[in-house]
Amino acid sequence: MENLESLARESVEAVNQAADADSLERLRVLYLGKKGLVTEQLKLISTLDPEKRRSFGQAVNALKQELTETIRSRGENLAGQAIEARLEAERIDVTLPGRHATSGSWHPISRTIARMEDIFASLGFDSAEGPEIEDDFYNFEALNIPADHPARAMHDTFYVDDKSVLRTHTSPVQVRYMLEHKPPLQVIAPGRVYRCDSDMTHTPMFHQVEGLAVGEGITFGHLRGVLSYFLREFFETDLKVKFRPSYFPFTEPSAEVDISCVFCGGPGCRVCKHTGWIEILGCGMVHPEVFRHVGVDYEKYTGYAFGMGVERLTLLRYGVDDLRLFFDNDVSFLAQFQ
Ligand SMILES: [Zn+2]
Repeated sequence: MENLESLARESVEAVNQAADADSLERLRVLYLGKKGLVTEQLKLISTLDPEKRRSFGQAVNALKQELTETIRSRGENLAGQAIEARLEAERIDVTLPGRHATSGSWHPISRTIARMEDIFASLGFDSAEGPEIEDDFYNFEALNIPADHPARAMHDTFYVDDKSVLRTHTSPVQVRYMLEHKPPLQVIAPGRVYRCDSDMTHTPMFHQVEGLAVGEGITFGHLRGVLSYFLREFFETDLKVKFRPSYFPFTEPSAEVDISCVFCGGPGCRVCKHTGWIEILGCGMVHPEVFRHVGVDYEKYTGYAFGMGVERLTLLRYGVDDLRLFFDNDVSFLAQFQ
């Protein structure tokens, strides 16, 4: 019985101090295995006198039970510690800067076109597109610019062949639209146009938005109203609008439109060349010759047309001072328009 007591103390202590699962398993084999120290004691029971057998047997079985339970709980303990240790070792530092995904953004030119379409849509204008390689007829002839017309010299045209050109303006879409739709009609036509011209303020490809309204009783007053409304909406400021007489072959009368400088508001600055005014677009009443080419009755209908450069509007609206930035596609520039 004395041996048994010291075996109990020694074994429970050893188990509680087991450092890991392997040493715990070695202790289990040492005490409870087939030839283990406690198992040896169990085997002794049958060799004892009946009067000692009962109390000794109870004590050995109690030891076996206690030790089994101690090993189980020590095992759980060690497993828990192992998980803790692993979590600590594999800890993720959530304060490290992450790798962020960059998202693209609308190009400022596309953004301006979308904005123009929105404003004109609110006035009831449809939006139409046309081909960039255009027949001479649509680009010039139908717009009252016959082959020998001096106005052709105003357009530095890229010729594709004898009969077709890279369109020099979006005005041919007017012609196409009037051939397909009967008045009354209101439409804008945004798109790319091409001129054989390249310097600080010109690029061989740029964007225009053409506008056209045809109906009964349309006057220059309607044109003034629509353009003034558009320009104030576009620049989100109550700017002044001025119409100056001008000349275009496809409109009569024709006008150029100036707005009060969106940078200095009038006193004069570098952008407005110290005049207080900025030239913004060309417009006029549709020339009867244009109506004749597309079969619109010019005794019954009148109409107005206008055209403006998208790059110029974008430069002025966002205060960009170099046209080339729109074509370099430098991501750090474009990201400012997100
Ligand atoms: Zn100014």
